[in-house]
Order: sequence, then structure tokens, then C-alpha cells
Amino acid sequence: MLRIVKNRLLQQRVCSLARCISNASAAFTDPLQYTSGKRELPSDIDSTDTTDVLEPATGRLLCRMKNSGVTDVNRSVEIAKQSLDGEWGQMSGTERGKILLRAAQIIRDNCEDISKVEVHDTGKAIWEARADIEGCADAIEYYGGVAPTIAGEHFALPQGSFAYTIREPLGVVGGIGAWNYPFQMAAWKSGPALACGNSMVFKPSQFTPLTAVLLAEVYSEAGLPAGAFNVIQGGASTGSLLSHHPDVAKMTFTGSMATGTKIMEACAQGIKYITLELGGKSPLIIFDDCDMENAIKGTMMANFLTQGQVCSNGTRVYVQRSIYDEFVSRLVERVNNMKIGNPFSEDTHVGATISREQFDIVMKYIKNAKSQGAKFVCGGEQVTPDDPALAKGLFISPAVVTDVTDKMQIAREEVFGPVACIFPFDTQQEVIQRANNSEFGLAGGVFTKDLKRAHHVVQKIQSGNLYVNNYNIYPSQIPFGGYKKSGLGREGGISFIEYYTQQKTVYVEMNDVDCPF
Ligand code: NAD
Repeated sequence: MLRIVKNRLLQQRVCSLARCISNASAAFTDPLQYTSGKRELPSDIDSTDTTDVLEPATGRLLCRMKNSGVTDVNRSVEIAKQSLDGEWGQMSGTERGKILLRAAQIIRDNCEDISKVEVHDTGKAIWEARADIEGCADAIEYYGGVAPTIAGEHFALPQGSFAYTIREPLGVVGGIGAWNYPFQMAAWKSGPALACGNSMVFKPSQFTPLTAVLLAEVYSEAGLPAGAFNVIQGGASTGSLLSHHPDVAKMTFTGSMATGTKIMEACAQGIKYITLELGGKSPLIIFDDCDMENAIKGTMMANFLTQGQVCSNGTRVYVQRSIYDEFVSRLVERVNNMKIGNPFSEDTHVGATISREQFDIVMKYIKNAKSQGAKFVCGGEQVTPDDPALAKGLFISPAVVTDVTDKMQIAREEVFGPVACIFPFDTQQEVIQRANNSEFGLAGGVFTKDLKRAHHVVQKIQSGNLYVNNYNIYPSQIPFGGYKKSGLGREGGISFIEYYTQQKTVYVEMNDVDCPF
């Protein structure tokens, strides 16, 4: 299945993954733990605790995953620590960069296979998975390209004395991901960590454990030395063990605000560096001078990718009153044409909701909004596709909602489903105030042909990522991260060097010591 796999160990790994994925009747039990550098897989899993991993679109059992316990987490961190004292720790930025560039090419060469595994794991449409995986190749290539340039500074001081700084890795970085972009989270966290010379222990979401293992295989194939990238598996307790581990120097986390708070508490206890990518309830502001066709497309990009399960989504859509009715009716017409169903069909727009838990959360928000008077002009219903193989999948039709007030729960909280609330507004000042009236600050957007107005509005919006006349685009070279309770730190962009290294300052005296004593 995967051409990346050349040696015996890797062939065994992927065969088992391929078996699990292609054979609908047989799930497999496997630790799914992995360490780079062609090491034997750990056999003494200390936990009898397992998680059933279900395929969202069909409900079938993909695998029964053993959760990593104390011994597994300790061993993975130890292996990662040892790698810093070994070959990995000795490499120059150029050598590290070459490995990442090779990894990027391997991802590109195997994009289709990795994308298919991602679809099995997440339920998202295949064309979206492909775009995600291609984006990961770009990201790892970007980090690989920057790795040789990571350098300290020189400071000339009086009488020939000088100082310089050394950029050193932090050590072992712990990564924890959410389930909506599993391969991307593993890549966006490991790419910068490895470029800076750290090693990593990564835990994907228990709902989507598969493609982080494929990334570990990619890195091994690219020549990443033993132990530099490791995958552990499990839910909250495994994540908690990792974030509390005394030998983990930094945590980088993507997930909910509630879990982010717990990880920050764990990092506070250990005085550890932290990057948090959390939730959002972002505003998208559409002025009456916009190009309406683009604004409608932008609204769909801002709400309906990955079944609406996107942290940066612009779910509070503010439309200027004079174009409100036309905008809503044209948006609804377009949304009604979205095809819901088999995520492997090229023409499917909306795949399956990740889990029963998430489905119930979204449906509860919808029910509550309806009871408070919100009007679902379209969508917000459970849909059963014709295909009997999808009978156990959970599908929700994309919803356009009007008659929502700013105070309703659906207008304030992150739904993490395909629900776009459309609010009318009158003035620029009013909409800026309403847009900022949120505890979140992840993203936002504005559609207008008036460039002065666009820039004025983005300057006033309290969010980390703003779009003018587009939405939800993430090239690797631009930073991504939140204001307010949407997070701390940035992923992407050159500032990753600040987040994954520490500076050592060295003062060098070129004269006699001037001492008053
Ligand atoms: P979650 O917080 O429930 O879980 C995220 C990860 O944390 C999982 O791997 C989980 O196993 C782990 N975890 C749970 N409890 C833990 C604990 N006590 N200690 C350590 N780890 C723990 O989030 P989710 O449901 O997987 O993802 C949805 C959330 O993620 C949404 O709020 C969404 O906005 C956010 N998200 C943010 C971004 C971003 O870049 N800002 C991207 C994607 C998703």
C-alpha cells in the first residue's frame, strides 16, 4: 500500500495498518506506538486499557488501540532524551534540514495513500484530506529549508570584548493533537521542533491515532535518527502523563480551551515552555460593497470544511443589513447543493462527524438554538446517505441560521460542527464592537472592496489570524495562533525558532578584569 516502506519492520507496520483499514470485517489490536530510527516496537505495553477506534463514516471498528501507560510514556520520553545525546544531537541545522526535506518529498510521493488513511480515520472528504497532506509536505519542506539558517547573534562590546548567543534546542518536546487535522497536527508540531534540534514525543487524539504513526514511518524512511520522533497513544490520562513528565521541556498542544487550561497547569508545575492552539468563535464581517459571490464562497470556506470541525471557522457571520436578505438566500441556495455522504467520493462535500460524542454535542447546540427562536433556514439535521455501508455513520447537513441574538449560546460558544450563524449589522463601529465581544480571538475576516476600511477593521479585531477577502488559508510561512483564550504562541512562520529554542548568552572578556574590591 505505501511505497515509503522499504525495510522489514516498516513493512510489518504498514501491512498491519493496511490490513486493518482495508478489511472491513477485521479490526486489529496494536499498540500503534512508534519510535523513529527502525527500532523494534515496544512489546511490554504496561496497560491493559484499550480504546476502540471507529471509522466515522461507517461506524466499523478500525482498531482496538492499547493506550500508553506510565511505563510507555516514561520509555518514550527516555528514548527521546537519549536521542539528544546521540547522533541526532550532533547534527547541524543543514543535516537536520536535509532529513526534513527528504521527509517532505516522501509525503508528496505517498500523498494518496496517507490521505486515504486520514479519510478512514477522520471521515473528512478525500479531496480535503489530500489538500491537508500536501500542505504538510509544504510545511515540513519550509521547516527543513529554515533549519540551516538557525543561528545566534554577535555583540561587539568596549575594548574588543564581545558576547554571542547560541540558539539551543529546548530538549524533549511533548506534542498533543486534536482529531480534526491529525496528520497536520503531527507535522506542524514535529517539523519546527525537529528543525530546531529537539526530539519529540507526540500523542495524537485517541479518535484518530493512525496517521501520526505514518509520519513516524516517513521520518524513519527519511533518515531521522533513532528516537528523535516518537508516537504514544491514548486519551486524557496518557496526555496528562506526558505533560507532567519532568523530562519534557515544552508542551505544544492543540485542542479545547478546557484541556489547554489543564496542560498549562501541568506546565506551570514544571516551569515548562508551552504553545497552545485552542478553540474559537470567530467573526466574519461582510460589508455591502463586497463582491457577493466571493463573500458567499468565503463564508462557505469559513464554515463547512471538515464538517465544520475547524478551530478558526468564522461561525459568526455579520452581514450589512442592506444586502442581508440577498446574501442569505444566495448562500442557502449554494449550501443546499452540497453533497453529503461517502468521504471517498470525489464529489462529496460533507463527510461524517468524528464521533457519537461530537454528534451529540452539535445536535444539542442545534436543539437549544431552535428552542431559543433561532431559525435554521437550511440544514442542522441528521442525514442518512443512501449507501447502506454508511448506515452507522453520523452525518449532519450544513446549517445556515438566522434570527440569532448575540446572547444566545450558539452565538457565543464553539459548536465545532457545520453551523453558520448569520447576523445583520448596520455600522462599522457597531460590528467591530460585536465581533470583539468574545472570550476567543483565534481568527476573523472581512469582505469589502474598500481597502482602507478592510485594514481599519482588521486592525481593530482582537484575533490572531485575519483574512481580507478570503478565509481559512494557511501557507506554512505565515504564523498561526490565537489572541485571548484561543491560545498562546504561534505555529508556522519564522517565529517558530523563538518557540522551539532557548538562547544561551556568552560574554567574552578580552581585557583584565576590572574589579573594585
Ligand atoms: P480536546 O481538548 O478534547 O482533546 C485534545 C487532545 O488533548 C486529545 O489528544 C486528548 O486526548 C488530549 N487530552 C484530553 N484531556 C487531556 C488532559 N487532561 N491532559 C493532556 N491531554 C489531554 O479537544 P478535541 O475535542 O480533540 O478537539 C477539538 C478542540 O480543538 C476544539 O476546541 C478546537 O477548536 C480545538 N482546535 C484548535 C486548533 C487550533 O489550531 N487553534 C486546531 C484544531 C482544533
